Amino acid sequence: TPSEGGTPSDPRTQSEGGGANDPIVAVTELRKSFGENHVLKSIDLSVAQGQVLALIGPSGSGKTTVLRCLNGLEIPDGGRVAFRAGPSVEFGRPVSRRQLAALRDRSGMVFQHYNLFPHRTVLENVIEGPVQVQKRPKDEAVREAEDLLRRVGLQDKKDQYPHQLSGGQQQRVGIVRALALKPALLLFDEPTSALDPELVGEVLHVIKELADEGWTMVMVTHELAFAREVATEVVFMDGGVVVERGHPDQVLRDPREERTRQFVHRLL
Ligand code: ADP
Repeated sequence: TPSEGGTPSDPRTQSEGGGANDPIVAVTELRKSFGENHVLKSIDLSVAQGQVLALIGPSGSGKTTVLRCLNGLEIPDGGRVAFRAGPSVEFGRPVSRRQLAALRDRSGMVFQHYNLFPHRTVLENVIEGPVQVQKRPKDEAVREAEDLLRRVGLQDKKDQYPHQLSGGQQQRVGIVRALALKPALLLFDEPTSALDPELVGEVLHVIKELADEGWTMVMVTHELAFAREVATEVVFMDGGVVVERGHPDQVLRDPREERTRQFVHRLL
């Protein structure tokens, strides 16, 4: 008797338009130089749905540049950034503003120094992207912004200005601003490194909650203990290349590469 359903099917054929198991974003052979400084030398990375990827490595190894390329803030010299069911941009040829804007629309960036507009209130900062860029109705954007601010405990700060908030509160606004865009991918660029030590915890707590909720994230961090707790994968970069990637316990506790070993032993 012929067995039915006995053949494992290729997951990509299971949903039309190639699907659910494709990475949220795939980066291939990404290259970027600033003058003679070859900052990214053919980086390959992919991030699956719900994955939290921690990018670690020495200062100057190109981690922030990777995030900025994903977010359309930097134009790579070559390679490709492709979002699932979204823009796929080939670099090394002319790239339009529209393509860069499409990349930005797919990913929400949380910056090291928060980058809030100083002369706008918390609420105005949060609804700026949804209303001005995504052209969504203002009343809807306000309602969603208020919900998000409530979730991070800042509902009573919505009419204040950034300078009236602590660094930890400003960074929570920075996170809410990224979430308000409903991005497929959240990017964190050393989100706690500008904070006083006593304010780090409240921001990491919010990030941990987002990870638990299943947000897909790429996070540049020096907080290796946090990376071990939250990341599903750790990528170690040095000198513009990915030296090693793997499960957090493996990369952080038992690295295969000598360069990784030296780096993690210094920080852990
Ligand atoms: P990391 O995040 O790992 O510290 P970065 O991606 O910030 O590394 O920087 C990598 C290298 O690229 C550094 O040498 C930095 O000076 C250089 N760099 C980054 N941005 C620029 C820029 N806009 N112009 C010139 N050099 C830059």
